[in-house]
Amino acid sequence: MKTVDLVVPCCNEGQVLERFFRETSEAAESISGYEFRFIFVDDGSTDDTLKIVQDLAERHACVRYISFSRNFGKEAGIYAGLKNSRSDLTVVMDADLQHPPALLAPMIQAVEEGYDSCSARRVSREGEPMIRSFFARCFYRLINAMTDVDMVDGAVDYRIMTRQMVEAVLSLSEIQRFSKGIFAWVGFKTKWVEFKNVERLEGESKWSFWKLFKYAVEGITAFTTVPLRFASILGLVASLSSFLLMLYEFIKSVAYGVDVKGYPSTLIMLLLIGGIMIMSSGILGEYVARMYMETKRRPIYIEKTSNIHIKDSLNNKM
Ligand code: UDP
Ligand code: MG
Repeated sequence: MKTVDLVVPCCNEGQVLERFFRETSEAAESISGYEFRFIFVDDGSTDDTLKIVQDLAERHACVRYISFSRNFGKEAGIYAGLKNSRSDLTVVMDADLQHPPALLAPMIQAVEEGYDSCSARRVSREGEPMIRSFFARCFYRLINAMTDVDMVDGAVDYRIMTRQMVEAVLSLSEIQRFSKGIFAWVGFKTKWVEFKNVERLEGESKWSFWKLFKYAVEGITAFTTVPLRFASILGLVASLSSFLLMLYEFIKSVAYGVDVKGYPSTLIMLLLIGGIMIMSSGILGEYVARMYMETKRRPIYIEKTSNIHIKDSLNNKM
């Protein structure tokens, strides 16, 4: 029998976890020929998430968990789960039931058909604030125009991968991880299944607008250095135009003499160049900051408790 690990990052999901486990297990049981295991990654929850997970682990042999020492973010959760999975196929999915367990069957089917991976894509963004959908769309346009990895609009982090692809994803060892980009970057043949956006059952989304903005900047800086070139080009255009303007002013003053007019244009140029300079160093700063964080080589997450080694050693004895 082939094994499938379900990696589930959870942050304050106490309210839905039992139901998530029930519904996902039901969906998994209807798929024959595969043995499913859960790897819950408790990402520094402040509610009873860990207790519920430990409870589940006691009652069900298929439940494994890792609990972080604090909140490290969903990306770290995904990484920890993947790192601890040993299965033939690995699935990454959310705990809030926004990723329909019913899609597990077609996803496995896709792998059987010969795909290395199958990922879900939302075709509607119902239940999401308009402004958020708008910025999301802008982000995908921008990142696809600037990078050579193809990121699909509406793609969610609900994906099945073969062992080979999981190893490839783990081989990208950057600390500031942007999974959507990493999944696209490693390549492999991916099938997309579409689904309608499901509203969150309980609890609330952990994403604020500011968090999403930071996520977008991270995604762009992680996969392309085009903004740096953009900054240089902008600087070049600005200095060239100010040089031309200087030439023009010089000829004008020689021909017609000097007057005190021209304050507005001077101010405008000053502001323009100042703005471009600040923006350019800001863009540069984003990359320097990334380099700084990466050179520290800090661990991606810190584990506090886990039952993975215990369960694995039990399994080996059996
Ligand atoms: N999550 C996490 N750490 C965080 C934030 C979120 O592990 O710091 C988990 C969360 O428990 C859920 C998944 O990531 O299983 C998606 O989070 P959420 O539903 O808040 O995001 P959205 O669905 O709104 O994109
Ligand atoms: Mg959600």
